Parts: sequence; structure tokens; C-alpha cells
Amino acid sequence: MKTPSKILITGGAGFIGSHLVESLLAKGNEVICIDNFLTGKKENIEEFLGRKNFRLFKYDIIQPLKKEIRQKIHGITRLYHLASPASPPQYKKYAIETLLVNSIGTYNMLEVAKEERAKFLLASTSEVYGNPLVHPQKEGYFGNVNPIGVRSCYDEGKRFAESITMNYHRKYQVDTRIIRIFNTYGPKMDREDGRVIANFINQALRDIPLTMHGDGTQTRSFCYVSDMVDGLSRAMESKGANSEVINLGYPKEYTISEIGKIIVDLTKSSSEIKRYPPQEDDPERRKPDITKAKKLLGWDPSVSLTIGLSHTINYFRSL
Ligand code: UDP
Repeated sequence: MKTPSKILITGGAGFIGSHLVESLLAKGNEVICIDNFLTGKKENIEEFLGRKNFRLFKYDIIQPLKKEIRQKIHGITRLYHLASPASPPQYKKYAIETLLVNSIGTYNMLEVAKEERAKFLLASTSEVYGNPLVHPQKEGYFGNVNPIGVRSCYDEGKRFAESITMNYHRKYQVDTRIIRIFNTYGPKMDREDGRVIANFINQALRDIPLTMHGDGTQTRSFCYVSDMVDGLSRAMESKGANSEVINLGYPKEYTISEIGKIIVDLTKSSSEIKRYPPQEDDPERRKPDITKAKKLLGWDPSVSLTIGLSHTINYFRSL
């Protein structure tokens, strides 16, 4: 971004959101964060609170923005819409909230982007591919989602969000980009949010058994948060991204049992890996095809799993 902008981030107190806030502030932008703290945490953004180019509003965007906030955000040129629970235990717990923030919340934010003529970025998810029958997943794959399953609040919520975003682009020419975020990890992950990297590291650091669901042959690809944030801002700034749907994720696949072993090694833990029942509708394989992001954005994630995990382990150790 050449000149500083006024930018709105929903979900800015979340894990990825708070790293994005940090990066946009460091580039000299004025950043306004809206978060209802359902799953986001004030600690994630506390360090920015005193800065004159940062503002925080505690607000639930399933309500249209109240006048005071609407006035304060006037003049934004970019809107990053990240607000949503994103870890499986949390979106299962807050299923209705997840559906509403992704449907009504996205509608409310698209209205703001339309009125302000701001560029709009939707943080979508690899979950729109469900339990994929095509591997690796390319953006053109329509997915294999159980519409009534326990994960559907998130999967279908995001699929609705993608649809309404595309329709605001078609009908009102809002400058949109939909980013399908694959598994991401790093410092500021919520220790309690139940995702595999946070769980395994914290279990390993306490030398208690690692809770592996199923036989551990299911796969994921893990992207370090600084690479993800770089991809998100490239997607916002790139002219060619208008109206596009783009995968962002690390293109190397690991089984969950491999992840357990790597974390035990890196933490020098005495933990064993213990099997628990598989989770319902748990996708068996997941790996992004990032050809499009490479070509369109010049994006190529550079932080290896070992380096990224070491930073994350140090972070959890320091808590
Ligand atoms: N998982 C696990 N133990 C845990 C947490 C997760 O074995 O303590 C597995 C989970 O069943 C899934 C994978 O790790 O197969 C990734 O789960 P996560 O909740 O991190 O995110 P997802 O990719 O499912 O959204």
C-alpha cells in the first residue's frame, strides 16, 4: 500500500485479526477494529490501545452499526471482514452466533463497503470444501459439505458469506475478494480454543498425553500467521484480485499423528500420543492448491513448519 489508508477490521481482536492490525498499523495506516469478544481477546490488541491511529469498538456486527461507530468509520477505503468463531469447538458451541455473523454480519459489512466505496475482503475458509473429494483443493472445486452436520454452522455460514459477497460485487460493483484461509497457527492463538496445534503444544509442554482424535491419518496443512497476514494484505492491494476467490495456506500436508510427533520432539516432551474417538464430519484430507495466489499475488509462504512451530512453542512457554 503506497499511501496510508483508513481501514476497518472486523474480528480484529482474534488470532489472525490482531496480527493483521499490527501489520497495518506498522505500515502507517489508521486502523479501526470492531470485535464483540465472543472469541476474540482484548489481550491480543491491548498493546495498540494507546496509539492515536488505532480505535477499538466492542460491538456485535449482526446489528447494523450504531450511529457513533458509523460516523467514526466514515472515510474507510478498506474493510477486512474476519469476524467469526473459527475453531471447531468454538463454532460448535456458538453455532447460531456463527451462522448469524457470517450471514447478517456479512450483509451489514457489505452495506458499509458499498456506501463507503471501500474495498472488501471476506475471510472465508477451507471448510467450504467440506470433506473434500478432490485433492489438493483448487478454488474451482465446489466442495463436499454436510449441510446439516455439526460443522455446517461454519461451513454453510461461510458459503452464504461467499455468495452474498459475490452478489454485492455483481449487483453493486463492490470491489471484493474472497480468501479461503486454510489452517493457520502462531503466537496469540488461544490456548483454550481447542485447535490441534494449540492443544498439542500445551499438552506437550505439560508432559500430559496428546489428545489425538481418530487414528491420526487425517491430514492438514499449516500456515504460519505472518505468511497469512502477508497474503491477506496482498489480496487486498492487488488489482487483479477484484471479484476473485483465492486459497491461502501452506502447500505441504502432514498427518495429525506426524504433527504430534514433531511437537513432542520440538518441545522435548515426555508426552505420549493418545487416541480419542474421531470427531464427527472431520475432513480426512486437506491441502491447498495455491497456484492462483502465487500467480495473482506473488505470494508464496516462506515460514517452514519447524520454524513456525518453534516460535509458537516459545510463545506458549512465555505465558
Ligand atoms: N485434532 C486432534 N486433537 C486435538 C484437536 C484436533 O486430533 O486435540 C484433530 C482434528 O480431529 C482434526 C485436526 O486435528 O482432524 C485439525 O483440527 P483443528 O481443530 O485444529 O482444525 P480443523 O482443521 O478441523 O478445522
